[in-house]
Amino acid sequence: MENCAFSNGVLNFLEKINENTVDIDNAVSDICAALEAVAEDIRLGRVELSLDAPPNELEPEGVIKSGEMYLNPNGYEADGVVINYTTKEGGKVVSSFMPVKGEKWSDDEKALIGLVSKSCYMITGRARIMSLMEKSLYIDRMTGICNTEGFMRYGGMLVARGLLVNYAAAFINIKNFKYVNQLFGSRQGDELLKKFAQAMDKFIKDDGKFARLGGDNFVLLIKKGRITDLRAFVDALSFEMGEGEMKQLYDVRLRMGIYEAVENDTMGDIMNKSSIAFNAAKSDERKDVVFFSPLHLEAAIHKKKISTLFPSALDNGEFVVYYQPKVRLSDNKLCGCEALCRWIRDGKIVPPMDFIPVLETEGSICRLDFYVFEAVCADIKRWLEMGLDPVRVSVNFSKRHLHNQRLADQIMGIIRKYGIDGRYIEVELTEMTGAEDLTAMSVFVDKMKDNGVATSIDDFGTGYSSLNLLKDLDVDVIKLDKSFFTNINDADGGISTDRIVVKNIVNMVNELNMEAVSEGVETHAQAEFLRETHCSMAQGFLFDRPLPKDEFEKRLSDEGFYVDKG
Ligand code: C2E
Ligand code: MG
Ligand code: MG
Repeated sequence: MENCAFSNGVLNFLEKINENTVDIDNAVSDICAALEAVAEDIRLGRVELSLDAPPNELEPEGVIKSGEMYLNPNGYEADGVVINYTTKEGGKVVSSFMPVKGEKWSDDEKALIGLVSKSCYMITGRARIMSLMEKSLYIDRMTGICNTEGFMRYGGMLVARGLLVNYAAAFINIKNFKYVNQLFGSRQGDELLKKFAQAMDKFIKDDGKFARLGGDNFVLLIKKGRITDLRAFVDALSFEMGEGEMKQLYDVRLRMGIYEAVENDTMGDIMNKSSIAFNAAKSDERKDVVFFSPLHLEAAIHKKKISTLFPSALDNGEFVVYYQPKVRLSDNKLCGCEALCRWIRDGKIVPPMDFIPVLETEGSICRLDFYVFEAVCADIKRWLEMGLDPVRVSVNFSKRHLHNQRLADQIMGIIRKYGIDGRYIEVELTEMTGAEDLTAMSVFVDKMKDNGVATSIDDFGTGYSSLNLLKDLDVDVIKLDKSFFTNINDADGGISTDRIVVKNIVNMVNELNMEAVSEGVETHAQAEFLRETHCSMAQGFLFDRPLPKDEFEKRLSDEGFYVDKG
């Protein structure tokens, strides 16, 4: 009778446990519950399972774990069934089953307990493999933190429970990471990624999720209330780098775009908006952390629209060239002009500031610049054929061109194609920051000079390395940015800082045998001041706005003298 209860208990156990459980925690709790239910029938005292698994890619430390799955309050006997299993990966599992205090299992009963033990081993083993397999889908191999899939899954779970609204998302990139690789080598670079990932993961704990998207790009979800802490934490991030003598602390600096979720946001919304904020951080040198605002979204939509429309607009001839006269201040005579691009879209004029910066960021500005340049060469050719005496036309070339080593040859090729003299052309470049850029610029300027084509530095005074530019570049013209002149007007007869700065720059430019052009001259007082400081030329609304081609042609056929309108 006792035997029958025993074997029924074993059968009952086998029926109760769910062999299909794939989650290790569920498998353990299933087994515990099933043991509890049949403990009396099989006179169970204690059950313990222990695992000692060797390290693998997903568990680099290996696993040593043991757990009591059942304990009878009345205690247990030491003479039970202990079985050692060896797993395929070389791990060891020990299961020990003991009878309740005062009881002894017969050999037959021990054989049945062996069956129970084996089932426990197989079910937990299977569940563990399934958990590892699942983990491998959601873990970034290199850093051991969550990957994109895992991140989306976590976020999806928050969405399903209506909890996403409590979170903020951030897109993160490590600033200057390529220099880390250059400076310390890529192995140390990888180490830094790992240390950084693990530090962030630990900081976020169970309050969100930190994931690697790839390279040095990361993304996180964190409870909104912890954003301030997060910022303080990342501001202080520092890791030991290098080896031996070269050991040093490296302060990690991040670029971050943050978006705080609102009601009904999906994972797609928060990924999109935090990446838009991140792009805003990327394009603003002064800000490393940018919080998403609707203005960023507007700008992103605008950018998308411009990039989509640009190629066909260029093919359809929607871009036209306007010419703004430059005036020699000594005699108020037309002495040159600047070609400025306008986009005629649906009968309206789109100003350059609405599309040039977008084209700059994606590089298509280079196509536009060549288009404008060809149009200018064609106009000059026509003016010559009409018997007009053209002035030198300056054309803006984006700094994006300077990586193109064939730029000078391409420009000369176009000048030759139209059969015009290089003296009618001036290439305007804007100030650049890096030393590499300066070298590229210098090579270009010298090539143009060899070909008899003038060059100028545009918007001088708005960049960072103005004086270096004057010293190192053999340009013909310096264009002083219009921001210098806003404080120089009638009301200000005395000495303002701007007056002193302008006076000295013009002096320096003259002494270096270059010419100074002042941009954005709007008032008689400004023109008078510039004349006194011996600035050669001025360009601005005081004389003329940028003019459509046919209007400008009239200026060429006139005497070409201006009167200050004051
Ligand atoms: P920029 O090269 O510095 O051109 C001078 C800008 O100042 C022009 O703006 C001109 O209209 C404006 N301006 C001239 N006189 C005055 C004045 O008295 N007062 C004020 N407030 N502004 C004045 P615009 O035409 O809107 O062009 C803006 C910028 O767009 C240009 O600045 C240039 O950087 C860029 N750009 C225009 N066309 C091209 C192009 O074909 N290629 C490239 N790469 N950039 C271009
Ligand atoms: Mg310009
Ligand atoms: Mg300018």
